[in-house]
Amino acid sequence: MLHPLELTHPAPRYEDPLDLIEEIEALKRQHDAVILAHFYVDGEIQEIADHTGDSLKLARDAVAVPQQTIVFAGVHFMAESAKILSPQKRVLLPDLQAGCSLADSCPPDKLAAFQAQLRAEGRDFQTVAYINTTAAVKSLCDWIVTSGNAREIIERVPADKEILFVPDQHLGRYLSEVTGRPMILWPGSCMVHEVFSVQDLLRAKRNNPGSIVMAHPECPRTVLEHADFIGGTEKMRKHVASLTTPHVFLVATEVNMIHPLQKLAPQHTYLPVPGIMASDGKTCACNKCPHMALNTLQKVRDCLKLGRPEIAWQPYFEQARSVLQNSLLK
Ligand code: SF4
Repeated sequence: MLHPLELTHPAPRYEDPLDLIEEIEALKRQHDAVILAHFYVDGEIQEIADHTGDSLKLARDAVAVPQQTIVFAGVHFMAESAKILSPQKRVLLPDLQAGCSLADSCPPDKLAAFQAQLRAEGRDFQTVAYINTTAAVKSLCDWIVTSGNAREIIERVPADKEILFVPDQHLGRYLSEVTGRPMILWPGSCMVHEVFSVQDLLRAKRNNPGSIVMAHPECPRTVLEHADFIGGTEKMRKHVASLTTPHVFLVATEVNMIHPLQKLAPQHTYLPVPGIMASDGKTCACNKCPHMALNTLQKVRDCLKLGRPEIAWQPYFEQARSVLQNSLLK
């Protein structure tokens, strides 16, 4: 007898990935659609995508592509940003449940209450939000940054204003250090970048003498202190491509990032951090984003076929749009 949950959520049946890819290609042509995929989704989805990148590049790609249907293989706030910047286009997200722990750590009502409290205390500030926030939060902010443009945007905040940085405390602390601007930090963080083990990182360094530790600025300071290179995903790509001599990189970000690095600069060896170090020196990564992992070839095919789930326009998108445009497109 079936468990009641199995009746409402049947296990997906196995389908040959090659058949799925063929079907997706045909549906894309039929619906004049384009697939955008974040570097953190599975490599097989990155392979069928028309454009891959970080949040900043994909937001710009969504505006630039001529197709009127966008399948966004990523998480909800990314598809929302694509819709906000291209309101006339249809934006589909393969799984509406693909959220983000970091975005969830800053609910709009709590942010609005905190901003009101700061104003009541007479604080003169602007709110800078990392792009990993909901559209409702973006509509309450003055600037949106990605790890790729954060320094440049922070320099645009008038020097006589305080900065309230949301939602990632680790990225905020790092940006405060590199820009020299003091910040009021919202206490949010990403569940994936929080789990890196400094112990495992140090062990991996010891087992791989001469290796280069490359860390995302969403990592806690305890991890960043051991990094040889700190940067977002696009910056990581540029860095590995700039080195022609083979190196071993210990990569402290979502494990699927290794796919584009390997593709771009196959001369290097990439090991995910952290990892349970086996006797042969190999690591097993525990740093996979469960939200990004909700994207599968089946779901990409299904949303192309059915034209849903679709990101629906919300009234607060209008305000979020002017903040996003000002920050990402100018
Ligand atoms: S890796 Fe972290 S920040 Fe990125 S989507 Fe997943 S939970 Fe959100």
